[in-house]
Amino acid sequence: MRIAIIGDSPCHLCNAACCKQNGHEYAAILRGNEIRKFAAFSVDARIATDDGRTVIEKVLPYQDGRCQFLGPDDRCAIYDDRPAACRAFQCIGHFNAGGIGRHGRFLQQNPTVLRLLETL
Ligand code: SF4
Ligand code: SF4
Repeated sequence: MRIAIIGDSPCHLCNAACCKQNGHEYAAILRGNEIRKFAAFSVDARIATDDGRTVIEKVLPYQDGRCQFLGPDDRCAIYDDRPAACRAFQCIGHFNAGGIGRHGRFLQQNPTVLRLLETL
C-alpha cells in the first residue's frame, strides 16, 4: 500500500497504482527547485500540451515499471520529500466517479482503482 497521499484518497486500500507504469509515461513531473533536487534521478520527456504544443520537461522515469522511489512494500521511500505532483494526485470517489474528471484517463487505464473509488 502506498501512504504517499494522506487525505481523501483511499491509498490504504490500493496498491500504489499511481506510482507504477500503467498507462502513463513517467512517474512524476518535476517543477521549480525539484528539478535541481532530483537532477540525478530525472530524465527529459516530451510532453504534449493542451494547446497542441510539445514541451520538454524533467520527469522521474519508471524503472522496471515502478517509480524508482517506490519501495518493494509499495510505499514511497521519499514520502516527506516527494514531488508536488505526487502530493497533488488524489483519487477522490465523488470527483472521479465513472472515470471522469482530472484523472479520468488514469482511471480508465487502472480499472482496479476505479472500482475501488466506486465503492466509496
Ligand atoms: S492510485 Fe489513488 S488510491 Fe491508489 S495509491 Fe495512488 S492516489 Fe492512492
Ligand atoms: S516519488 Fe513517491 S509518491 Fe511520487 S511517484 Fe515516486 S513513489 Fe510515488
